[in-house]
Amino acid sequence: MELTLDLYEKWLRLFAKKVESNKAYLSELDTAIGDGDHGNNMARGVSAVEEGFNLKAPEDLTSALKLTAMAFISKVGGASGPLYGTAFLEMAKASSKTNDLYDLLEVALAGIKKRGGASAGDKTMVDVWEKVLPEIKNGTLTEEKIHEAVEATKDMQAKKGRASYLGERSVGHLDPGAVSSGYLFTNLLKAEE
Ligand code: ADP
Ligand code: MG
Ligand code: MG
Repeated sequence: MELTLDLYEKWLRLFAKKVESNKAYLSELDTAIGDGDHGNNMARGVSAVEEGFNLKAPEDLTSALKLTAMAFISKVGGASGPLYGTAFLEMAKASSKTNDLYDLLEVALAGIKKRGGASAGDKTMVDVWEKVLPEIKNGTLTEEKIHEAVEATKDMQAKKGRASYLGERSVGHLDPGAVSSGYLFTNLLKAEE
C-alpha cells in the first residue's frame, strides 16, 4: 500500500488525539515500571507534530515525515523521543526512493533496533513493531492483532530501557512504549478506513 501525504497527515493527527486523550494512562503504565513520564513525553511530541502541520501544511510526504522526526527528537526527552524520532527520520530518508508503506516501516524498525539495541522479547515498542509489520506486508493487520502484540509484553521481562532495572519485577506490567506503538498502528488502520 502506498503512503500518501494525505493518509500520513490523517494518520498522525488521529495518533496525536489518541495519545493526548490517553496521556495519563501512558504515564501511569510508566509509573509501574519506569519513571512515569511516557504519556507526557509522547503528548509533547504529538502536539509539536500537530502544531507543525497547522503552522504550514507540509508540501510532500518527505517534509511531513521530517517534521514529525524533528518534533520527537527536539521536543521529547527520554528513550522514546530519539527512538520514535529515528523511526520517522529513517522513513523521511527512504521516502525519496519509495512511498510503499511497508518498505518505509521496515526501515523505521531497523532504525529503532539499531538505535536502541532491542530485539523481540525485550519488552519494548519493538515487540509491537515486529509483530505488526508482517501483517501490514500481507494486508492482514487488525486491531485484534495489534492488541495481542501489546498484551504480549505483559508477561515479558524487560531487557532494555528503565524497566530492565526492575529485573523480574517488570513482569506482569504492560510496556508503555508498546502501548503507544499500539496506538500508532490502530490509528493507521483508522486513517485507512
Ligand atoms: P524514559 O524511559 O527515558 O523515561 P519513556 O518513558 O518516554 O522514556 O519511554 C519508555 C519506553 O521506551 C519503554 O516503554 C520502551 O517501549 C521504550 N524503550 C526504552 N528503551 C528502549 C530501547 N533500548 N529500545 C527500544 N525501545 C525502548
Ligand atoms: Mg519514562
Ligand atoms: Mg524519562
